[in-house]
Amino acid sequence: ARGAARESARQPATTRDGRTIEVCANVAGGAEAFIAAEEGADGIGLLRSEFLFLDRESAPSVDEQRDEYQAALDALGGKPVVVRTLDIGADKQLSYLPLPSVANPALGVRGIRLWASHAELLESQLRALLALQPLDALRIMLPMVSGVGELRALRQRLETLAGELGVSRLPQLGVMIEVPSAALCAASLAAEADFLSVGTNDLTQYTLAMDREDPGLAAQLDVLHPAVLRLIKTTVEGAAGRCPVGVCGAAASDPLALAVLVALGVDELSVEPSRVPAVKASLRELDAGALAEQLSAWLDLDDGAMVRERLKS
Ligand code: PEP
Ligand code: MG
Repeated sequence: ARGAARESARQPATTRDGRTIEVCANVAGGAEAFIAAEEGADGIGLLRSEFLFLDRESAPSVDEQRDEYQAALDALGGKPVVVRTLDIGADKQLSYLPLPSVANPALGVRGIRLWASHAELLESQLRALLALQPLDALRIMLPMVSGVGELRALRQRLETLAGELGVSRLPQLGVMIEVPSAALCAASLAAEADFLSVGTNDLTQYTLAMDREDPGLAAQLDVLHPAVLRLIKTTVEGAAGRCPVGVCGAAASDPLALAVLVALGVDELSVEPSRVPAVKASLRELDAGALAEQLSAWLDLDDGAMVRERLKS
């Protein structure tokens, strides 16, 4: 039976009404990517590259980074691997990269905003990424994007660097949707990005203006709050099929939330490696079309708790 379960986890996840949703994994590096492949992940939807940079005295070299990212690509054997560029700031700090102390670091220089002041870190990461094989399995993803200008600037740098390195075909370049402005402007992002991936952890925090680390707010910090759902809906509608939309926040493995995400029309879910088989099994039980018919009623409810109640009944 275990063998059969394993085999079924390796198969694509198709809903009862025939929609296939990619189920990918969130990982910290090559070793975890290997586990994800074993669990049957259809790819890596989020490699949090900051894990290579944490708990050390200096930044990893280009070669060190390349080896770690390459291990992830090798583990997946040609399936897509999304590497997110360094997402430092707020709760994640590096001793060798002192950031000014500010009153609201979650609203400060973090994620992609770091590149204005720390271009050398960006360069080292992009150099390591452009050295990978095969490059068409690699997808580069930018965190904390708030508008299309940031994507444009990054694409320009990537193109310049690729020219210098003699790389002719660029890897796909996508952005995280984890700031309300990015969700609201998804159409302009989708016109220039190769993919969008909703980071529900931060999108929920920034939409509800509730710190994701504050235990006093944990009960209300719910991705199923209609305001958050409306922003995800806006994102999918903004993308309008021009590029795929995934979800890589914790909501992707919450059984109730993943049903709503499917109803909203997302193409991919990315979850902890151990959750891949269960998420695929849940998807196979769903009727995406029937769920979508109930969507507008959920969007009019008062809060996340009420949406959860409705979904359970
Ligand atoms: C998110 O914000 O949902 C996300 C996936 O990124 P992280 O949890 O690393 O901030
Ligand atoms: Mg985030």
